[in-house]
Amino acid sequence: MTLIIAIDGPAASGKGTLARRIAAHFGLAWLDTGLLYRAVARDVLANGGDLDDVIAAAEAARVIEAQSLDDPGLRGPKAGDAASIVAKFPEVRAALLDYQRAFAAQEAGAVLDGRDIGTVVCPNARVKVFVTASDEARAQRRFLEHLGRGEAVSYDDLLADIRRRDARDSGRSAAPMLAAADALHLDTTHLDADQAFEAIMQLIAARVAGN
Ligand code: C5P
Repeated sequence: MTLIIAIDGPAASGKGTLARRIAAHFGLAWLDTGLLYRAVARDVLANGGDLDDVIAAAEAARVIEAQSLDDPGLRGPKAGDAASIVAKFPEVRAALLDYQRAFAAQEAGAVLDGRDIGTVVCPNARVKVFVTASDEARAQRRFLEHLGRGEAVSYDDLLADIRRRDARDSGRSAAPMLAAADALHLDTTHLDADQAFEAIMQLIAARVAGN
């Protein structure tokens, strides 16, 4: 039976790591949909455009290619912040919808993570989980990731970045970040990566058994 799993939530909630591990567990393909928006922002800037130019952003979204998502330059908060600027345009979201739905339509199913997977991209997903964590816990995670790479950053700046991005993603009118009405909820504030994975696997098992 096809198993589509939609994982949504804010930046640094742990949703990406969880989605990757869930996909490996079930032998499913995984799409980090944030990469699509990050790549659109990258391409707009590479073409000398402005992130607030809807025509340039929609054109970049229409010609996005899978290979171009495999770019280490797409990681990091700067690319994420730029992504959230182009992500507010309905024209950009519409252009990326077919790509995401085609990915989800694989025979076995797929795991997709993002902001609007359970609400817009895959409203019929068998399992939907909305992953959250406190602002402070998320900023602390980012802080430790930067430290681990030997990069000097300020915790306060990271916290401000996270709050600004959340406000942009929740406040936009096109497909705002939102838990689907039938989503399960997981708060990872007090969980490490292994505990969060165990908790989400229990939620998924209960949902799949109940279906
Ligand atoms: O998940 P990630 O941090 O890579 O996402 C980067 C940005 O892309 C988000 O802040 C959001 O603005 C946008 N995004 C979105 N819808 C998705 C995935 C990401 O709007 N499904």
